[in-house]
Amino acid sequence: MLVSLTFDVEQDCPPYLSTTRGVEEGLPKILDLLGEKGVKGTFFFTAQMAKEYPHLVKRVVEDGHELGCHTYNHERLDKLSKGEAERIIEKSLQVLRNFGEVVSFRSPNLQLPSEIYAVLREKGILVDSSKAVYKRYRGISYVGGVLEIPASVTSSVLRLPWRIQRIIHARLREPRVYFAHPWEFVPMKGVRFDCRFNTGEKALELLERLIDHYRRENAEFLLMRDYLKVFKPERRQEAEGVSQHPR
Ligand SMILES: [Zn+2]
Repeated sequence: MLVSLTFDVEQDCPPYLSTTRGVEEGLPKILDLLGEKGVKGTFFFTAQMAKEYPHLVKRVVEDGHELGCHTYNHERLDKLSKGEAERIIEKSLQVLRNFGEVVSFRSPNLQLPSEIYAVLREKGILVDSSKAVYKRYRGISYVGGVLEIPASVTSSVLRLPWRIQRIIHARLREPRVYFAHPWEFVPMKGVRFDCRFNTGEKALELLERLIDHYRRENAEFLLMRDYLKVFKPERRQEAEGVSQHPR
């Protein structure tokens, strides 16, 4: 069983809020929990959050997690020209690579125009997770030389009561790629319902439950970059973006 825990490190509930309580208070709690459980995850930082909280980026890298890129300041790439998107990706990677290797990417709101894959590859990005199975994106494939590993479920699923979410998890195909945001681990108020229900301590308890569940199942927790070893490109497939099957 292949499972991945990924976190998009950004301001609180974009674009509705511009506070950063999630990064300040939520992210250390996530890192404490993963440390306690001996589990590694992938943290897609915006360059803006990395600049404001360099000690937390350092901690992510030092704790053995993967540092990924989530653009500069949560820009929607589908609303920019290709040239503008390219400049933003370039600028974000310049900031993030001061902290370590960055080969994985996730675009804000999971909006990645297909022409951007080639841009990502050119900038040294090898894995992307900007697509979602729940948005009907099927399969795992190399697109423009970048390995696309779609997210399995939307982040608010991880805040549903356990008896409900466990049914959802059991139906997911592998690899099961989850994502959450640091702001979900502090109590959110004054935002739309799906951004606030069960945020704070409850979300943390549920994340612990998810980890314990998969540890009992002897799941392998993979970083996004680890998939490069699981789904190896073949030249022809790399050129054509043909789907591959696990192992
Ligand atoms: Zn985001």
